[in-house]
Amino acid sequence: MICRYAVDELIGLSADCRAVDSERFEKTTYRMNIIKQKALSLIENAFGKSGRVLAVRAWESAGFVEIDVHFPEMVMSGWEKVQHAKIKVGEGVYRDYTPAGWDNETHTCTLYVDTMHNGPGSTWASSLQVGDPITYVGVSNTFHKPLSGKMIVLGDMSALGHYLALQQLAAGQSISGAIAVDEEDMAEFESTFRWNVKAVKKNDAGGLASLLQWTQDIDLTNTEVFIAGHIPTGIQLRKELKKRKDQPNSVRVQGFWS
Ligand SMILES: Cc1cc2nc3c(=O)[nH]c(=O)nc-3n(C[C@H](O)[C@H](O)[C@H](O)COP(=O)(O)OP(=O)(O)OC[C@H]3O[C@@H](n4cnc5c(N)ncnc54)[C@H](O)[C@@H]3O)c2cc1C
Repeated sequence: MICRYAVDELIGLSADCRAVDSERFEKTTYRMNIIKQKALSLIENAFGKSGRVLAVRAWESAGFVEIDVHFPEMVMSGWEKVQHAKIKVGEGVYRDYTPAGWDNETHTCTLYVDTMHNGPGSTWASSLQVGDPITYVGVSNTFHKPLSGKMIVLGDMSALGHYLALQQLAAGQSISGAIAVDEEDMAEFESTFRWNVKAVKKNDAGGLASLLQWTQDIDLTNTEVFIAGHIPTGIQLRKELKKRKDQPNSVRVQGFWS
């Protein structure tokens, strides 16, 4: 809005004009939102498929939830890469979540959802109960798939399902790494996942400081590094790792949220 007003000043729009212009702008935005909602509901009618909640496990802190889902029509043809499904979390509102623990025979999986913040996705996931329907409009590939050699994963709790899916695809191949976790969830993380991927205490939005600290004692030579979750953290982490003398073979960032 500040920029628009600066432009108005430059082209000499009076305050009255601005008020009229602003009203017109709001009406246009309102119409655009209606058009967007209609387009989304057309897409949903054409491509929408549904699943059903089988079980819900909320973590003690209430900041994280595991949701077992039956998706009878889910097409996982790209299941050599980690997948993500676009899920309806409100009227005209969609968020991406990662199917982990995919079972091709039963067409079931688990969604691991961070609910520590306020947002439509977070509210939706926290409200789910056994038997609830879930609508999604498609499944697509992410950039991440298992690579030969030593794999290291880094991210925040929104990336937990993503890395569990990567581990499933990597089968017996070992993956190590660190996930930045809120202090109240650390014990539950360690007792739930007996894994080479460890919880480190999250001290900032995406856990940059603790993830960087964790990498300090690790030899990155000949490793493939995967980063997922908070976008600014992923970008910064990649920059820092690229500066190291023992540079990894690759650093692959998959941004989730900002
Ligand atoms: C390919 C892909 C796969 C994904 N898979 C998962 C998954 O398996 N599990 C999962 O939890 N998320 C996953 N996400 C992220 C998810 O789609 C949403 O972006 C996220 O859950 C936030 O949605 P929201 O509506 O709750 O909050 P938004 O409306 O997007 O944001 C509201 C506020 O909360 C903040 N915020 C958003 N997410 C977080 C967070 N995780 N921690 C702290 N603050 C946050 C935002 O900065 C903003 O201020 C994935 C995203 C992508 C692109």
